[in-house]
Amino acid sequence: MIIVLKDGIGKDKIKSFSDELSRDYGVKVNTWFGTHSTVLGLIGDTQSVDIERVQANDIVDTVKRVQEPYKKANRKFHPDDTVIEVAGRKIGGGNIAIIAGPCSVENRDQICGIAERVKAAGASFLRGGAFKPRTSPYSFQGLRAEGIELLLEAKKQTGLPIVTEIMSINHIDLFADVDIIQVGARNMQNFELLKALGATGKPILLKRGLANTIEETLMSAEYIMSAGNEKVILCERGVRTFEDYTRNTLDISAVPVFKRLSHLPVIVDPSHASGIDWLVEPLSLSAVAAGADGLIIEVHNDPPHALSDGAQSVTPDAFDVIAKKVFHLKKALADL
Ligand code: PEP
Ligand code: MN
Repeated sequence: MIIVLKDGIGKDKIKSFSDELSRDYGVKVNTWFGTHSTVLGLIGDTQSVDIERVQANDIVDTVKRVQEPYKKANRKFHPDDTVIEVAGRKIGGGNIAIIAGPCSVENRDQICGIAERVKAAGASFLRGGAFKPRTSPYSFQGLRAEGIELLLEAKKQTGLPIVTEIMSINHIDLFADVDIIQVGARNMQNFELLKALGATGKPILLKRGLANTIEETLMSAEYIMSAGNEKVILCERGVRTFEDYTRNTLDISAVPVFKRLSHLPVIVDPSHASGIDWLVEPLSLSAVAAGADGLIIEVHNDPPHALSDGAQSVTPDAFDVIAKKVFHLKKALADL
């Protein structure tokens, strides 16, 4: 349920009204202060809330029941875009953030060399998998803890904050110095992991599951947020369809839909969505045109010899061109 208050109500009055609602109905009250209005979001079992009584209060403008099962992630509860700031870089609210780097961290020279190149091209974060979810147990599984150490070295060398995927709740301590923790598609509904990440307070990059709906994705964000961490970035990375020319099918409409339903930042992963290097550029541009707040792109110095996902990895030279076009398109759209 959301309660929109009348303009110009003092903070003390708002606080005592919220306390009264929590006490009388046993609900949690989220307060969002906008420039013109204040919105109270009631979370919990709101069945017993007497709408007419609430409406009769002279500080209340309107009261509406919210049908969607996600509350904290819901734009109705938080009309402005959420902007997440990480090491001075902004994600959300119309800024374009590019996260780039290899699928897997392979060795020091590889990760540090790629980090230098993507930084020079305008990326604001370095990605690299240390714990890798692979379909086959015989495929390269990642350098694990050593991979995180190497990412931290690349961060020290370049100043780029790092993004890497967590696969198990048992590894959370290893991620203490990671700037953004990625939850991969395969773990989007690992609810215990989501709850534990909610307790870390770290920015979480939540990828949409292989065959999950938009609402299920928002419910996973809700798990992290309801556990106390509002810093969630949604990522559309393609879903399973009957089409097998591409690895997945990029659901481009998910971008404006997520942005309409939720205030959270939305980024797109054109690499896993397509599985093909030459599709990364057109999909990146489509994502920006559709309103994405950023991209996560796989870049490798030697794609044919990459230990994972070489076919979808672009070279640093190709990434230079993609980043240039992305920034150019973003600027052209902003200048309209
Ligand atoms: C990845 O980013 O390397 C990855 C495994 O992505 P996804 O979870 O989207 O498949
Ligand atoms: Mn990959």
